[in-house]
Amino acid sequence: EFVENVHDRGFSRIFGIETEYGVSVTENDKAIEAGQVAMMMFQPVVTRSRSTNTYLGNGARLYLDVGSHPEYATAESRTPMGALAQDLAGERIMGRLAADAQQRLREHYGDGTRIHLFKNNTDSSGHSFGCHENYLLRRFVSLRTVERELIPFLVTRQLFSGAGMMGPDGFEMSQRARFLDDAVSSATTRSRPMVNTRDEPHADPDHYRRLHVIVGDSNRSQLATWMKLATTHLVLSVIEESVSLGERSPFDSCMLADPGQAIRQVSGDITGKAPIMLSADVPVREHSCALEIQRSYLHAVQSFVARHTSSIDAILPDAAQVLELWENALDSIDRGRWRELSSWVDWAAKLNLFERMRARNNGGSPQLEARIRQIDLEYHDIVNGVTYPSLMSHGALRSLLGEDAIREAVSNPPADTRAALRGAFVDAALRKDVLWACDWTHVSLASGNRLEAELLDPFNPEPTEEYLRVMAAVSEPKPSQNW
Ligand code: ATP
Ligand code: MG
Ligand code: MG
Repeated sequence: EFVENVHDRGFSRIFGIETEYGVSVTENDKAIEAGQVAMMMFQPVVTRSRSTNTYLGNGARLYLDVGSHPEYATAESRTPMGALAQDLAGERIMGRLAADAQQRLREHYGDGTRIHLFKNNTDSSGHSFGCHENYLLRRFVSLRTVERELIPFLVTRQLFSGAGMMGPDGFEMSQRARFLDDAVSSATTRSRPMVNTRDEPHADPDHYRRLHVIVGDSNRSQLATWMKLATTHLVLSVIEESVSLGERSPFDSCMLADPGQAIRQVSGDITGKAPIMLSADVPVREHSCALEIQRSYLHAVQSFVARHTSSIDAILPDAAQVLELWENALDSIDRGRWRELSSWVDWAAKLNLFERMRARNNGGSPQLEARIRQIDLEYHDIVNGVTYPSLMSHGALRSLLGEDAIREAVSNPPADTRAALRGAFVDAALRKDVLWACDWTHVSLASGNRLEAELLDPFNPEPTEEYLRVMAAVSEPKPSQNW
């Protein structure tokens, strides 16, 4: 009843995932710089688009800044499942670029040459790179509110969304957690690196923000990616609702004294029960723990979903399944049975594997630990990695989307957002070989009279007249080249 009045689009959202990949090369005599390999991967992209920064026929952005971390930013999707498909398409596209480059490298350096393309967040020299989540958010929710009410969720959701890693001091659930505090040292701004506050809505700024969450890990598990987006979306919906109704936040009691410290504490505690200090503004109690904070969010979301049963399919398809998985995850951790999560939580899948290796070898040895660290990295290699594909083919890791869905997303944008317009434009422009450009909110042609169309509404896949004029120009038959 409230919903449709507060904003014409209820709790509908746009989702996008940016994934930065790590590159390295092994088994060659000559040292090849990662940056050089990344450039090599992008040679076909440059040939095609005259730039290392381009958009694809499926609406995504593919780019390489200086350095060696190629990035894929998915086209706008309306659902977490749609965003997952686009993210997997990104893996596929990056993987192909790397496999091609590997082929070319082998001609020079021999058959043993291998390119490793890591979908993870940290390299061997301790640099951290990102997986950014983008959520369209209603403008009436202030960034201060987001930071206060969302951050305890972001700090604790690693219980099921962490990618896991063998850290210097033992196993950690999250790859990003350790790096956040380093990024900003001032206590007052510690929560900042979890959410990027740059105001670039890529939509009507009077109505929307683009929430740019930079604290998450890259996931290999399909379910983990899906659950990360779906649960965050539901929490954002609760926040939007309580702000629009002028109600007290259901998450006031979760405010943290020091998010930067808390996220590192949570990362090292797979029991979920280590005490976390709450903000002095929280009355009554001084401490909570990751599990308890997650339960508070889950309960608020459960009651939100119960209040919106009639429209829940529009808010989130499969919401019941999301709630069930979420609750089961918290229950499993609560009972010390984190192994039950190894079929879909990346950190649990990895830790389960490591512990079995240790058990088979009657405990540890330096050689075994070295092997474990190798697998810890190799799990994320989307080109030459064998652990993840093997877990998948043995059914040890569950999947949500099969080959067909991924292949579909490699060549097709989501049909129900403006990405459909961008994708059709890019395909047409490439076929015609004209000078073209686009960004999230524009498409343009540079040859002859410059023509541009604005696509300000991310929800709208319907062509405007302006867009049709651009498309008419790009679809004209190519001038004959029979000189
Ligand atoms: P850069 O990487 O150059 O710093 P950025 O991180 O701000 O820029 P991009 O890498 O260009 O952003 O990726 C933007 C992401 O935001 C894409 O996944 C895209 O689908 C998504 N997106 C676009 N418009 C919206 C919107 N209005 N709301 C939420 N997400 C959006
Ligand atoms: Mg980006
Ligand atoms: Mg980003």
